[in-house]
Amino acid sequence: MKTPICSICLQSDILCARCRKNVETGRISGLGAKVIKNLYALSKTTRSLDNVVIEKVVDLDSLILILCQKTDVANMVGREGRITKELRKNFGKQVKIVGREDYKGMISSLMFPARVSIGKLYSNGMESIKITMQKSQLKSLPAKQEDLLTAITEITNMKTELSVQ
Ligand SMILES: [Zn+2]
Repeated sequence: MKTPICSICLQSDILCARCRKNVETGRISGLGAKVIKNLYALSKTTRSLDNVVIEKVVDLDSLILILCQKTDVANMVGREGRITKELRKNFGKQVKIVGREDYKGMISSLMFPARVSIGKLYSNGMESIKITMQKSQLKSLPAKQEDLLTAITEITNMKTELSVQ
């Protein structure tokens, strides 16, 4: 398992300078270090976690987002969602595993099961993301609207706005 926390820190209660930097630069937010340590503990009994590469963990009020390599998503979710279920139980919030891919793919899997359309906006030379959804889809959002938008900005480095129609 490769994570923004090194193998030494995974087994200790403090973070070394390099790992602390990952926290400061946003590769790990909130309880992200705890989430990674929980995954590390699970990896001792869950073989599918052995070779996964975790790029980033975003911990928000209603949502934990784990960004990993696209090819690792199934291994991270676990058989019948065993790993995400365990994290959901331990942290008491929605857990989304998203694979690194183009922004549309990442946003669609984050917002699932809500159906959205995704495009880009350009103004004053700045690029931002515009998500459009129908009002009837609001109830299908997997977490709080503001947390989902924050998470999208965290994984795309772009401002995000949502338009509900
Ligand atoms: Zn470390």
